[in-house]
Amino acid sequence: MIIAITCVIAIAVIAFVLGVRPKDLPEPEPVSPFAHLDERKAAIYENLRDLQFEYRVGKLSDADYQHTKQDLQKELAAVLAEVDQLKASLGQPVRPQEAPRLEGSKAEKPKPGGFTCPSCGASFEKDLKFCGECGKPMKAVTV
Ligand SMILES: [Zn+2]
Repeated sequence: MIIAITCVIAIAVIAFVLGVRPKDLPEPEPVSPFAHLDERKAAIYENLRDLQFEYRVGKLSDADYQHTKQDLQKELAAVLAEVDQLKASLGQPVRPQEAPRLEGSKAEKPKPGGFTCPSCGASFEKDLKFCGECGKPMKAVTV
């Protein structure tokens, strides 16, 4: 067994010395300047997912989780900023900042209704004469 391993190592060394690579590395294709940033972004998202999973199964303490998450989010923000910078330098329209989305934190904002009560701020889809919340007249709001 040891002899076999030694042989394999010897062959590998000889191959290396002769300049034969064990794996022929593919030539780097002409990729978009965003490719490496996209890769980094994807890696960070994956790390965040893993982190969240480990936290859920109790592998991480709360402090560790928060600390690592913050680090990753900082990293992500840096990558996104770099993407925007790159786009700006290439004259491409900068897309709105993409907020890092984590599972289970889909905080959807309630859609504001078409009409809002000037007294209490309650919103309604219908144009009501009187506010359904506080009962005050709502006519003033509708333009
Ligand atoms: Zn009201």
